[in-house]
Amino acid sequence: MRTSWGSATDRGRVRRLNEDSLLAHSPVFVVADGMGGHDAGDVASRVTVEEFAALGGRDGVTHDDVEAAFARAAGRVREAVGAGRTAGTTVAGVAVAAGGAPYWLVFNVGDSRVYRLAGGALEQVSVDHSVVQDLVDSGRLRPADAQWHPDRHVITRAVGTGAVPEPDYWLIPAGAADRLLLCSDGLTQELDDDAIRYLLLDQPDPQAAAQILVQAAVEAGGRDNVTVVVVDVDDAQPAGVDEATIERPVTPPAGGAGTEQ
Ligand code: MN
Repeated sequence: MRTSWGSATDRGRVRRLNEDSLLAHSPVFVVADGMGGHDAGDVASRVTVEEFAALGGRDGVTHDDVEAAFARAAGRVREAVGAGRTAGTTVAGVAVAAGGAPYWLVFNVGDSRVYRLAGGALEQVSVDHSVVQDLVDSGRLRPADAQWHPDRHVITRAVGTGAVPEPDYWLIPAGAADRLLLCSDGLTQELDDDAIRYLLLDQPDPQAAAQILVQAAVEAGGRDNVTVVVVDVDDAQPAGVDEATIERPVTPPAGGAGTEQ
Protein backbone atom coordinates (compact mmCIF):
# COMPACT_ATOMS: atom_id res chain seq x y z
CA MET A 1 0.00 0.00 0.00
CA ARG A 2 1.38 3.39 -0.99
CA THR A 3 0.48 6.39 1.16
CA SER A 4 1.30 10.07 1.36
CA TRP A 5 0.68 12.31 4.35
CA GLY A 6 0.92 15.73 5.91
CA SER A 7 0.82 17.06 9.47
CA ALA A 8 0.50 20.31 11.38
CA THR A 9 0.23 21.43 15.00
CA ASP A 10 -0.33 24.75 16.77
CA ARG A 11 -0.32 25.92 20.40
CA GLY A 12 -3.53 27.85 19.76
CA ARG A 13 -4.43 31.24 21.19
CA VAL A 14 -4.91 30.47 24.88
CA ARG A 15 -2.58 27.74 26.10
CA ARG A 16 0.94 28.60 27.22
CA LEU A 17 2.40 25.33 25.92
CA ASN A 18 1.70 22.87 23.13
CA GLU A 19 1.20 19.57 24.97
CA ASP A 20 0.14 17.69 21.81
CA SER A 21 2.62 15.47 19.97
CA LEU A 22 2.39 13.74 16.61
CA LEU A 23 4.08 10.97 14.66
CA ALA A 24 4.05 10.55 10.90
CA HIS A 25 6.51 7.76 10.15
CA SER A 26 5.01 5.29 7.68
CA PRO A 27 3.43 2.84 8.31
CA VAL A 28 2.47 4.40 11.68
CA PHE A 29 0.65 7.68 12.33
CA VAL A 30 -0.27 8.98 15.80
CA VAL A 31 -1.68 12.06 17.50
CA ALA A 32 -1.25 12.34 21.30
CA ASP A 33 -2.76 15.02 23.56
CA GLY A 34 -0.98 15.25 26.92
CA MET A 35 -2.44 16.47 30.18
CA GLY A 36 -1.03 17.13 33.64
CA GLY A 37 0.35 20.04 35.64
CA HIS A 38 3.85 21.49 35.54
CA ASP A 39 4.46 20.71 31.87
CA ALA A 40 3.98 16.99 32.52
CA GLY A 41 1.42 16.66 29.72
CA ASP A 42 4.02 17.72 27.23
CA VAL A 43 6.37 14.99 28.46
CA ALA A 44 3.60 12.36 28.50
CA SER A 45 2.60 12.89 24.88
CA ARG A 46 6.21 13.13 23.69
CA VAL A 47 7.52 9.92 25.28
CA THR A 48 4.40 8.08 24.12
CA VAL A 49 4.93 9.13 20.52
CA GLU A 50 8.57 8.03 20.81
CA GLU A 51 7.46 4.49 21.64
CA PHE A 52 5.20 4.37 18.57
CA ALA A 53 8.03 5.79 16.44
CA ALA A 54 9.90 2.53 17.09
CA LEU A 55 7.32 0.85 14.79
CA GLY A 56 8.13 3.19 11.89
CA GLY A 57 9.84 1.94 8.76
CA ARG A 58 8.31 -1.55 8.78
CA ASP A 59 6.11 -3.04 6.04
CA GLY A 60 3.21 -3.41 8.45
CA VAL A 61 2.29 -3.50 12.11
CA THR A 62 0.39 -6.10 14.17
CA HIS A 63 -2.08 -5.68 17.02
CA ASP A 64 0.59 -7.09 19.36
CA ASP A 65 3.12 -4.47 18.16
CA VAL A 66 0.69 -1.70 19.03
CA GLU A 67 -0.30 -3.28 22.34
CA ALA A 68 3.38 -3.51 23.30
CA ALA A 69 3.97 0.13 22.32
CA PHE A 70 1.06 1.17 24.56
CA ALA A 71 2.52 -0.79 27.48
CA ARG A 72 5.99 0.70 27.01
CA ALA A 73 4.53 4.17 26.66
CA ALA A 74 2.59 3.87 29.93
CA GLY A 75 5.75 2.83 31.75
CA ARG A 76 7.73 5.68 30.25
CA VAL A 77 5.08 8.25 31.18
CA ARG A 78 5.02 7.10 34.82
CA GLU A 79 8.84 7.06 34.92
CA ALA A 80 9.22 10.48 33.29
CA VAL A 81 6.60 12.18 35.42
CA GLY A 82 7.80 10.72 38.71
CA ALA A 83 6.10 9.56 41.89
CA GLY A 84 3.37 11.70 43.35
CA ARG A 85 2.55 13.47 40.09
CA THR A 86 -0.10 12.50 37.61
CA ALA A 87 0.08 12.93 33.89
CA GLY A 88 -1.35 11.12 30.94
CA THR A 89 -1.97 11.35 27.27
CA THR A 90 -4.54 10.40 24.71
CA VAL A 91 -3.49 8.40 21.65
CA ALA A 92 -5.27 8.21 18.32
CA GLY A 93 -3.44 6.24 15.66
CA VAL A 94 -3.52 4.29 12.44
CA ALA A 95 -1.03 1.79 11.09
CA VAL A 96 -0.83 -0.27 7.92
CA ALA A 97 -1.78 -3.75 9.12
CA ALA A 98 0.85 -6.46 8.68
CA GLY A 99 0.00 -9.41 6.47
CA GLY A 100 -0.07 -7.94 2.98
CA ALA A 101 -3.79 -7.20 2.64
CA PRO A 102 -4.69 -3.48 2.44
CA TYR A 103 -6.10 -2.85 5.92
CA TRP A 104 -5.65 -0.11 8.48
CA LEU A 105 -5.29 -0.93 12.14
CA VAL A 106 -6.97 1.96 13.99
CA PHE A 107 -6.50 2.44 17.74
CA ASN A 108 -7.32 5.01 20.40
CA VAL A 109 -7.29 5.91 24.07
CA GLY A 110 -9.08 9.10 25.16
CA ASP A 111 -10.74 11.72 22.97
CA SER A 112 -8.29 12.28 20.13
CA ARG A 113 -9.96 10.92 17.00
CA VAL A 114 -9.55 9.00 13.77
CA TYR A 115 -11.87 9.85 10.86
CA ARG A 116 -12.12 8.32 7.41
CA LEU A 117 -13.12 10.27 4.29
CA ALA A 118 -14.33 7.84 1.62
CA GLY A 119 -16.48 8.58 -1.39
CA GLY A 120 -16.95 12.15 -0.17
CA ALA A 121 -18.41 11.05 3.19
CA LEU A 122 -16.66 11.72 6.52
CA GLU A 123 -17.06 9.07 9.20
CA GLN A 124 -15.61 9.00 12.72
CA VAL A 125 -13.94 5.60 13.16
CA SER A 126 -12.73 5.85 16.75
CA VAL A 127 -15.08 6.22 19.71
CA ASP A 128 -14.08 8.73 22.41
CA HIS A 129 -13.35 7.57 25.95
CA SER A 130 -15.05 10.56 27.55
CA VAL A 131 -17.78 11.48 30.00
CA VAL A 132 -19.73 13.07 27.17
CA GLN A 133 -19.52 9.93 25.01
CA ASP A 134 -20.81 7.87 27.96
CA LEU A 135 -23.77 10.26 28.27
CA VAL A 136 -24.51 9.95 24.54
CA ASP A 137 -24.22 6.14 24.67
CA SER A 138 -26.68 5.94 27.56
CA GLY A 139 -29.16 8.22 25.79
CA ARG A 140 -28.83 11.07 28.29
CA LEU A 141 -27.25 13.53 25.84
CA ARG A 142 -28.00 14.20 22.19
CA PRO A 143 -24.90 13.80 19.96
CA ALA A 144 -25.54 17.31 18.60
CA ASP A 145 -25.14 18.77 22.12
CA ALA A 146 -21.93 16.89 22.95
CA GLN A 147 -19.61 19.50 21.47
CA TRP A 148 -20.81 22.19 23.91
CA HIS A 149 -21.27 20.15 27.10
CA PRO A 150 -19.40 21.60 30.14
CA ASP A 151 -17.68 18.25 30.79
CA ARG A 152 -16.57 17.85 27.19
CA HIS A 153 -12.86 17.88 28.17
CA VAL A 154 -13.17 15.08 30.75
CA ILE A 155 -11.79 11.79 29.45
CA THR A 156 -12.30 8.38 31.00
CA ARG A 157 -9.16 6.65 29.70
CA ALA A 158 -5.58 7.83 29.20
CA VAL A 159 -2.08 6.40 28.78
CA GLY A 160 -0.01 6.80 31.96
CA THR A 161 -2.76 7.30 34.50
CA GLY A 162 -3.87 3.71 35.05
CA ALA A 163 -1.82 0.57 35.47
CA VAL A 164 -2.40 -0.67 31.93
CA PRO A 165 -3.73 1.35 28.98
CA GLU A 166 -7.05 0.14 27.57
CA PRO A 167 -7.01 0.94 23.85
CA ASP A 168 -9.81 0.08 21.45
CA TYR A 169 -8.94 -1.33 18.02
CA TRP A 170 -10.58 -1.44 14.61
CA LEU A 171 -9.42 -3.17 11.44
CA ILE A 172 -10.78 -1.33 8.40
CA PRO A 173 -10.19 -1.93 4.68
CA ALA A 174 -7.94 0.64 3.01
CA GLY A 175 -9.75 1.77 -0.11
CA ALA A 176 -7.85 3.42 -2.92
CA ALA A 177 -8.30 7.21 -2.65
CA ASP A 178 -9.40 7.00 1.00
CA ARG A 179 -8.17 9.76 3.30
CA LEU A 180 -7.65 9.33 7.04
CA LEU A 181 -7.67 12.20 9.52
CA LEU A 182 -6.11 11.99 12.99
CA CYS A 183 -6.71 14.94 15.29
CA SER A 184 -6.63 16.18 18.86
CA ASP A 185 -9.78 17.64 20.42
CA GLY A 186 -8.46 21.13 19.72
CA LEU A 187 -9.70 20.58 16.16
CA THR A 188 -13.08 19.01 16.92
CA GLN A 189 -13.92 21.52 19.68
CA GLU A 190 -13.62 24.33 17.13
CA LEU A 191 -14.87 22.81 13.86
CA ASP A 192 -17.88 20.60 13.32
CA ASP A 193 -17.78 17.55 11.04
CA ASP A 194 -19.24 19.44 8.07
CA ALA A 195 -16.50 22.08 8.21
CA ILE A 196 -13.81 19.38 8.55
CA ARG A 197 -15.26 17.44 5.61
CA TYR A 198 -15.41 20.54 3.43
CA LEU A 199 -11.77 21.45 4.09
CA LEU A 200 -10.56 17.87 3.53
CA LEU A 201 -12.40 17.70 0.19
CA ASP A 202 -11.15 21.12 -0.84
CA GLN A 203 -7.43 20.37 -0.39
CA PRO A 204 -6.08 17.46 -2.46
CA ASP A 205 -2.57 17.78 -1.01
CA PRO A 206 -2.39 16.16 2.46
CA GLN A 207 0.12 18.68 3.84
CA ALA A 208 -2.00 21.61 2.66
CA ALA A 209 -5.10 19.95 4.14
CA ALA A 210 -3.41 19.48 7.55
CA GLN A 211 -2.26 23.11 7.63
CA ILE A 212 -5.63 24.52 6.56
CA LEU A 213 -7.48 22.49 9.21
CA VAL A 214 -5.17 23.65 12.00
CA GLN A 215 -5.34 27.25 10.78
CA ALA A 216 -9.15 27.12 10.67
CA ALA A 217 -9.33 25.80 14.27
CA VAL A 218 -7.01 28.54 15.51
CA GLU A 219 -9.03 31.20 13.70
CA ALA A 220 -12.26 29.78 15.16
CA GLY A 221 -10.94 30.40 18.68
CA GLY A 222 -7.84 28.28 19.21
CA ARG A 223 -8.88 27.52 22.79
CA ASP A 224 -6.72 24.40 22.92
CA ASN A 225 -3.66 22.98 21.22
CA VAL A 226 -4.56 21.73 17.73
CA THR A 227 -2.89 18.80 15.97
CA VAL A 228 -3.76 17.11 12.68
CA VAL A 229 -2.30 14.27 10.60
CA VAL A 230 -3.79 13.57 7.15
CA VAL A 231 -2.94 10.26 5.44
CA ASP A 232 -3.92 9.51 1.85
CA VAL A 233 -4.06 6.05 0.31
CA ASP A 234 -2.47 6.52 -3.11
CA ASP A 235 -2.52 2.84 -4.05
CA ALA A 236 -4.17 0.16 -1.97
CA GLN A 237 -2.22 -2.69 -3.59
CA PRO A 238 -0.30 -4.64 -0.98
CA ALA A 239 3.40 -3.83 -0.84
CA GLY A 240 5.56 -6.33 -2.71
CA VAL A 241 2.86 -7.52 -5.13
CA ASP A 242 5.04 -6.71 -8.13
CA GLU A 243 7.92 -8.75 -6.82
CA ALA A 244 5.66 -11.66 -6.03
CA THR A 245 3.94 -11.86 -9.40
CA ILE A 246 6.57 -10.84 -11.94
CA GLU A 247 9.53 -13.05 -12.64
CA ARG A 248 12.80 -11.20 -12.61
CA PRO A 249 16.46 -12.10 -12.82
CA VAL A 250 18.16 -12.20 -9.45
CA THR A 251 20.12 -9.00 -8.90
CA PRO A 252 22.44 -8.09 -6.05
CA PRO A 253 21.01 -5.79 -3.38
CA ALA A 254 21.29 -2.06 -3.93
CA GLY A 255 24.78 -0.90 -3.13
CA GLY A 256 26.33 -4.11 -4.35
CA ALA A 257 28.64 -6.48 -2.53
CA GLY A 258 31.69 -4.76 -3.92
CA THR A 259 31.06 -1.47 -2.14
CA GLU A 260 30.52 -2.77 1.37
CA GLN A 261 34.12 -2.29 2.44
MN1 MN B 1 -6.63 18.89 23.79
